[in-house]
Amino acid sequence: MQLTDSVGRNINYLRLSVTDRCNMRCFYCMPKEGVVNRGHDAVLSYEELQLIAESAVGLGIEKIRITGGEPLVRAGIVDFLARLSSLPGLRHLALTTNGLLLADMAKELYQAGVQRLNVSLDSLNPETFSEITRGGDLKRVLDGLDAAEKAGFPPPKINVVIMRGVNDAEIMSFVEMTRLRGSSIRFIEYMPVVRDEGWQRFCISGEEILQRIAASYQLEQVDKGPFAGPSRDYRIPGAVGSIGIITAVSGHFCSECNRIRVTSTGQAKGCLFSDEKTDLVPFLRPPDRDTLAQVLRGIVSNKPERHGISCNSYEHQNFSMAQIGG
Ligand code: SAM
Ligand code: SF4
Repeated sequence: MQLTDSVGRNINYLRLSVTDRCNMRCFYCMPKEGVVNRGHDAVLSYEELQLIAESAVGLGIEKIRITGGEPLVRAGIVDFLARLSSLPGLRHLALTTNGLLLADMAKELYQAGVQRLNVSLDSLNPETFSEITRGGDLKRVLDGLDAAEKAGFPPPKINVVIMRGVNDAEIMSFVEMTRLRGSSIRFIEYMPVVRDEGWQRFCISGEEILQRIAASYQLEQVDKGPFAGPSRDYRIPGAVGSIGIITAVSGHFCSECNRIRVTSTGQAKGCLFSDEKTDLVPFLRPPDRDTLAQVLRGIVSNKPERHGISCNSYEHQNFSMAQIGG
């Protein structure tokens, strides 16, 4: 079954957040004091999250990415993933993590049936990494990447948010990883969600990132896999790994958007940057599968055609990416 929105986009991808808590504090994602501590009941139970997943897959969602906050800090996550991975109709189960706990958990995640990991890694320099993440330990993340490959995962996709004056000088070091390590690097435009004073200075377009790489290397375009997101993918001829550019802010994105999102408190969103959300809790407590399916279908039907943000203007309220799941 295909799930299609009002402008004909095939919606086959659900980003499902399991927590808004995190063991890092990336400055572009959340305030330094972390997110507001919610009561225990505010966060959906695994049974409720599973109900949403089942309903979405029943409607035509084929790929689920588990995200957060940091999904690996939630107790019981491995058992939950194992249950999800055996959901009939779900073709692809992926997880996005900051990698801090990966060295210890990679093997059980693989055994639970997670097919692909995305690891966020914004700097290869321990000091810069610690500054961006407000205290994160780069070595633990690098150990996590090694552990993931040893456990049997394909090389994790590495998500790098590029910010001018912060880590843009490292673009070519990440590019080298596609040649030397076979890594798939995805450069993500900085999105103004936590707008501290002077946030505009961090903005750097995907086009500029690409031009900087193209000044040193010829790039060939790479065909997308069946569950690829809206990144434009390239490869240095002969390299095993690829280079993706995710221009979430500057454009080229909305017309190919194939996703909906559900937060850990049960708020469903058709667009990351829309202030509109639908509370799924009334259809989970107690469970009402029929209405839940109808409501999810409605979120797809009403998915905005495009977002209205840019690095010059924004029309959404401030939010923390950790509360939505990126
Ligand atoms: N904690 C996990 C992680 O960091 O991978 C998963 C959640 S995190 C919110 C998901 C993704 O959102 C990460 O790749 C992160 O870099 C990205 N992200 C968070 N805030 C962002 C921002 N302001 N601009 C661009 N990407 C952002
Ligand atoms: Fe945590 Fe991920 Fe947000 Fe960084 S980007 S603070 S690791 S949720």
